[in-house]
Amino acid sequence: MRLIFLGPPGVGKGTQAKRICEHYNLIHLSTGEILRNEIAEKTNIGRKAKSFIDAGELVPDDVLLGMMNNRLKKDDVQSGYLLDGFPRTIPQANGLDNIMNNISHSLDCALSLNADENELVQRLINRGKESGRSDDTPEIIRQRQKVYWEQTAPLLDFYREKNLLKEVNGIGDIPEITERILKVLN
Ligand code: ADP
Repeated sequence: MRLIFLGPPGVGKGTQAKRICEHYNLIHLSTGEILRNEIAEKTNIGRKAKSFIDAGELVPDDVLLGMMNNRLKKDDVQSGYLLDGFPRTIPQANGLDNIMNNISHSLDCALSLNADENELVQRLINRGKESGRSDDTPEIIRQRQKVYWEQTAPLLDFYREKNLLKEVNGIGDIPEITERILKVLN
């Protein structure tokens, strides 16, 4: 199975992605996590990404597409994966289509976790106190929300038109939301 998880910052994508990957035995590919590792290891990609991430802006599409093109060719993902945080723009979605076509992978579902924006900002501010993530401050959180609505939300229509979009209510407790997702995927 090959899945995409969509949803605004703070909706719990990462948490649910981990649970769904365990359930179906999929590889969890979080581009946010991959980029933070690249930064920690001071690689070329990390150097390019850092200033964008710290400003709450998206890292340029060509960086993401190059990185994911390499990643999706690796052996460990051949039996299935969940993309968490990628694609995030229409050019990334088109690029992903090409990458997947070239390796004869097809997408099973783009799952969107939905929630009210104000609830999300509060959750992220609370997370920021524990996560120590440089981009979990109130101002940068607002910026990431804005970027989501402007650049990523158009992907909902993109996948809706391909009949791949499924939407799930992201408000509730963690196991309850996992159940909703599993129901939609089955
Ligand atoms: P969140 O979903 O909470 O915003 P992520 O960990 O998914 O957090 O992403 C953190 C940051 O990493 C983003 O704000 C962005 O700068 C960068 N990033 C992650 N994925 C992408 C992507 N597909 N395209 C561009 N930038 C990305």
